[in-house]
Amino acid sequence: MARDPVCGMDIDETTAAGKSQYGGTLYYFCAPGCLREFAKDPEKYLAGRSTTRTKKEKASPPGAVENGGHH
Ligand SMILES: [Zn+2]
Repeated sequence: MARDPVCGMDIDETTAAGKSQYGGTLYYFCAPGCLREFAKDPEKYLAGRSTTRTKKEKASPPGAVENGGHH
């Protein structure tokens, strides 16, 4: 049994919808969409494997204030 790094589902290698090799490891996916997401940014999914939230933040463009526009 493998694990889909994108959605976290358990994947049976024989029925996986897609697979991708990255960093010497073969990853399996439940759907082509998950494979595409992984291919776009593998590090994003592999980094968040052990800890739920990393301090990796989305770079917001300058001037974009979504909350806390005052203090
Ligand atoms: Zn998936």
